[in-house]
Amino acid sequence: MPEKSSVLPPFAKPDLIIDAVPEDERVWVPQAPKIWFRPLLLDTNKGAWFNLLRVRRAGVLTRHRHPGPVYGYVIKGHWHYLEHDFVAAPGKFLFEPPGETHTLVVDSDDEMITMFNVNGAMVYVDEEGGTIGYEDVFTKIEMCMKHYEEIGLGSGYVEQFIR
Ligand code: FE
Repeated sequence: MPEKSSVLPPFAKPDLIIDAVPEDERVWVPQAPKIWFRPLLLDTNKGAWFNLLRVRRAGVLTRHRHPGPVYGYVIKGHWHYLEHDFVAAPGKFLFEPPGETHTLVVDSDDEMITMFNVNGAMVYVDEEGGTIGYEDVFTKIEMCMKHYEEIGLGSGYVEQFIR
């Protein structure tokens, strides 16, 4: 039997297997009051990321446009988009094609957790569709570094999620 590690071709990156919902509360990165994300995979080659979004308050998340596709899987709680009729509920899978522009609304204070795979960027827009900000895999990495440094895990804690 060859050594397990020797089956990897040269330059292949290590796999990543983690508990999606972490035991350690500190792994959640604050995004806004009562809103957090938990990085799962920060892909700097594709400019994409997988994260869990967790919201613990009723309210609205800033309207934004997705130039690239988004894939989602609802784990817990209910939410909807102001611009659409469907209700996202546990077990629902979503595909949001490029160009999708929406405002996520959580109706109750019950916890919601959804996994999103965002590709490229999210562009925050105002009422007229004008750009007011953006997020990409690199701003996500910076947010993680800042948070993990502040809470004592060290900024390098984020490295395990980066490929
Ligand atoms: Fe979105």
